[in-house]
Amino acid sequence: MANGERCSDKKGMTAAQPPTAQLRAAFEQSPVSTVVYDATGRPIAANRSFERLWGASLADTPPDYNLLTDPQLDAAGMLPAIRRAFSGEAVTTPPIRYVMSDAVGRGHVVWTQGHFYPVRDEHGSVSQVVLTHEDVTGRMESEAQLIATARRAERLQLLTAALSTAATPDEVAQAVVAHAAVALDAAGVVIARITSGGDHLHIMQAGEMPDPLAADWQRFPLSAPVPLAEVARTGAPVFLESRDAWEERFPGMLPMLEMTGHHANAVMPLVVNAEVLGVIGAAFDAPRAFDETDRALAMTIAQQCAQALERARLYDAERRARQEAEAANRSKGEFLAAMSHELRTPLNAIAGHVQLLEMEIYGPLTAGQREALERIERAQRYLLRHVNDVLNFARLRAGRLEYELAPVELAMVIRELEPMIGPQLTAKSLTYNAEISPGQVALADREKLVQVLLNLVSNAAKFTAAGGTVVVDCVDRADGTGDPGVVFVRVSDSGVGIPDDKWESIFEPFVQVDASPAGRLGGTGLGLAISRDLVRGMGGDLRVRSTLGAGSSFTIALPRA
Ligand code: ADP
Repeated sequence: MANGERCSDKKGMTAAQPPTAQLRAAFEQSPVSTVVYDATGRPIAANRSFERLWGASLADTPPDYNLLTDPQLDAAGMLPAIRRAFSGEAVTTPPIRYVMSDAVGRGHVVWTQGHFYPVRDEHGSVSQVVLTHEDVTGRMESEAQLIATARRAERLQLLTAALSTAATPDEVAQAVVAHAAVALDAAGVVIARITSGGDHLHIMQAGEMPDPLAADWQRFPLSAPVPLAEVARTGAPVFLESRDAWEERFPGMLPMLEMTGHHANAVMPLVVNAEVLGVIGAAFDAPRAFDETDRALAMTIAQQCAQALERARLYDAERRARQEAEAANRSKGEFLAAMSHELRTPLNAIAGHVQLLEMEIYGPLTAGQREALERIERAQRYLLRHVNDVLNFARLRAGRLEYELAPVELAMVIRELEPMIGPQLTAKSLTYNAEISPGQVALADREKLVQVLLNLVSNAAKFTAAGGTVVVDCVDRADGTGDPGVVFVRVSDSGVGIPDDKWESIFEPFVQVDASPAGRLGGTGLGLAISRDLVRGMGGDLRVRSTLGAGSSFTIALPRA
């Protein structure tokens, strides 16, 4: 011992006792675990603190033990530094987690930091090396725990991020397998779902499973005597800390564990709204104690996965339904467009030939023939209008319409309307009032707005008995609650009205309130569907309010320019 040498050189430390005896007492009673090695690395003495720290005495050391060939110190790369101590240098080595099985038995584990002091003989050669152990277990373990906690949080974050972007159940399963194993510190993770019949488990993804096993266990009954199936059945997690525990609860599984190399297992249920959707199983390739924190973490991960799985399932179902609806709607639109085209061509031919006949190209007409031709012409026009409606509607729904939005002065548009609806109003002696003051300007596609207003006013005329009233006005939110960015145009009548339960459905294509032949006033039931689509296409909306027997009022809301 270098210090010891110096002490023993000093004269008169304690006159009553020789220095070696003093040193021996200090060595024996020192609170610091101390071992003395000979020059070859063999331990020759250890004090009581050593026994306390390591739970064993020097007598327990294997006869062939040598510090300079200690496999753990070798693995930690410490032997070169220790050799320097044997060449005469005082050396301090970094902390090491030492398992005592290689030295004095019984597997005692201690984090220590070693301080090596060479002792020289009278010739100056190193005759012994003294090693004191500083027990740093507490510090190192709390540091290790901090690091592990931080790493877990980081891994959990990765899992959360991957789950949040997973859009399909398969993507969720992939995210789980890619990140949950790391978050749980497991060798591998499997995720399994209960099949729609509710009696089998289906493995969606398995991170680490030998091929023959994966093939056999792709799908298995819920009654199978294995942890995954039990958790799926009971909804309670299972934690198996060792192969013994595994074999005890699920006998006969040892051969499988030999094949996988797994020792411990944690299986958590995937629960959404109190329903077990499936399970996540994490396997570990060494025995493992699951403390409270481990279990809570495993359950949190399972909960996150279950929610992501449910979200993806709903999203998937919604997307599929939307795609189907869109496809159905598209083919309906395409069919209507094709049919309308097929119908319009012969209708135009009918009109052409009627005109030729009326021009008496094929010879003079009798009064009866002329009247019949006029009827044909009226019927042709009627048919053509409806075919055009269908065509428009089909185009509209197929999304092939373009809108040219510009400021539109409402008073001007209403004035433009009058010559077109005048004859219909006069024919039924209806009173017509258009009361829009100048300065009300909407952002709209002028032509389409005219088409909508024309439809609303002609409906009003159609569904109002002779002598009634039709009014077009611009409503300002008198109470000031309305959105100042919106302008409202209203078409009201004193007609038959619409029952409350039909206010929504009349905007559906082909819906008419009174579809009986007696109630039909002509029309296809497409006018309002087209009108509302057009108004919505301009960024607005169309609504109805009505009192049965007293009248209806349709309000167009459009962005104010
Ligand atoms: P069409 O007028 O071709 O039947 P619409 O889509 O324009 O088709 O109207 C659908 C149905 O809504 C009409 O058949 C009618 O029953 C009802 N409706 C529309 N406007 C009025 C109105 N002003 N008064 C009463 N009922 C109306």
